[in-house]
Amino acid sequence: MTVAAPSAPSAVSTPVATVPLLIGGQFVESRATQWRDVINPATQQVLARVPFATPQELDAAVEAAKQAFVTWRKTPIGVRARIFLKYQQLIREHMKELAALLTAEQGKTLPDAEGDIFRGLEVVEHAANIGTLQMGELANNVATGVDTYTLLQPLGVCAGITPFNFPAMIPLWMFPMAIATGNTFILKPSEQDPLVTMRLVELALEAGIPKGVLNVVHGGEAVVNGLCDHPDIKAISFVGSTRVGTHVYRRATLAGKRAQCMMGAKNHAVVLPDAHKEQTLNNLVGAAFGAAGQRCMAASTVVFVGESKQWIGDLVERAKTLKLNAGHEAGTDVGPVMSCAAAERIHGLIERGIAEGAVLELDGRRPQVPGYEQGNFVGPTIFSGVKPGMAIYDEEIFGPVLVILEAASLDEAIERINRNPNGNGTALFTQSGAAARRFQEDIDIGQVGINVPIPVPVPLFSFTGSRASKLGDLGPYGKQVILFYTQTKTVTQRWFDDETLHVGVNTTISLR
Ligand code: NAD
Repeated sequence: MTVAAPSAPSAVSTPVATVPLLIGGQFVESRATQWRDVINPATQQVLARVPFATPQELDAAVEAAKQAFVTWRKTPIGVRARIFLKYQQLIREHMKELAALLTAEQGKTLPDAEGDIFRGLEVVEHAANIGTLQMGELANNVATGVDTYTLLQPLGVCAGITPFNFPAMIPLWMFPMAIATGNTFILKPSEQDPLVTMRLVELALEAGIPKGVLNVVHGGEAVVNGLCDHPDIKAISFVGSTRVGTHVYRRATLAGKRAQCMMGAKNHAVVLPDAHKEQTLNNLVGAAFGAAGQRCMAASTVVFVGESKQWIGDLVERAKTLKLNAGHEAGTDVGPVMSCAAAERIHGLIERGIAEGAVLELDGRRPQVPGYEQGNFVGPTIFSGVKPGMAIYDEEIFGPVLVILEAASLDEAIERINRNPNGNGTALFTQSGAAARRFQEDIDIGQVGINVPIPVPVPLFSFTGSRASKLGDLGPYGKQVILFYTQTKTVTQRWFDDETLHVGVNTTISLR
């Protein structure tokens, strides 16, 4: 499948490409009766059509993965590692092409699309180190002539379900580590923007991933439920909304699977009066409005503590300088949101914010973007005077809308954040080490940034989350995911020879 990234809408009717499934190493056209359009959010141009795979196609993908597991699980570590060495090289070589495709179907700016791919590439690089990551432990002489060691063995067929907002990074969080540890995989990309994901899958095959080790099915609720229920799938990784993730976690664990679900967010950035003003305001504007606010780690809420509230006006002025345009246009800061439905939902929430008494400091509703009048644009929007109980605070807006609260002290800010149901990311802006240490100790949030607005960890560490932002114990990449995708086996071993002391019959639990 090759879908070129279009540069402008065309009046000429050309056949629309269909997005294939990948089953047993073959890209195949689905027999689905239900399809959906993949749409450029800046132009409404239909880029491709994606199928909702049939139950038979899902079964075929799982069967292919099951067959491939027989040999893949015993494939030497060095062979597995070298595939990911090659894969990272291919991704680098195709960076511009991948970014253009991602921008065309998702809307984010080209530099940000490269960032999306790069954050996934870092996981691929980490997967190439699998030799040192998947090592067990050994204790010598745990009893006389007895050693105990552990093996980290792959589980079998694993599956991943991904959201629309990072169509490169999040699939790359999942299948490289699952496959590097010796599992086989079924990927279910977002049905809204599967094209860059499919191109990354093509490159993975080119890097040497054998037939059946990586498979792709497309679809929505029915396919996701089919993955959760399938008896031959051992583990499910999910990234998406809290509503769907909670359902996936319950359904998958009920069916006896391991599950990890990374979910929704409401990330608070706290500003103390001693913060570096220029750096803080620049960081806040970038983290609130970058990717049109469609990041699970977006700084969508600011808590100004004490006198720092005087900076609200400067923050608004800085947000006004952002350039709204199609993501592929040079100099764009904020692209369109994913879909017409997303834009309508965001507009609806802005209207509720006004009705519920928040102060609209910057109104980004229904902006005109010359040349892209059909695009799903929402301009940077800022509310002050926001309080819990207002929909703009209680709901994840997932758009370029920043809500501002005030607090009298750092303690009050911490308490407010810990009372919010979500626990994905947070950041503190201060020059005080003591305040920073207090914050990191007392805040109940997975990712904490100190003067870092979007503290997504590099893959030497694992992504995590607290409370409603995460279900399951282990994170989706880094060291934790090695444990998620493997079963620990302990081997306790003794060898007899003629000189071994005869210990006689032992009817106790003790080793001698
Ligand atoms: P979504 O939950 O709508 O979709 C995620 C996946 O679930 C998609 O593959 C989709 O096809 C599938 N799905 C949708 N509805 C379903 C249903 N009823 N039953 C079963 N499966 C269903 O999420 P989205 O809108 O694609 O992504 C945005 C959300 O993802 C936001 O809430 C964001 O915070 C979250 N997110 C979280 C993280 C994280 O690491 N915590 C990262 C990225 C995005």
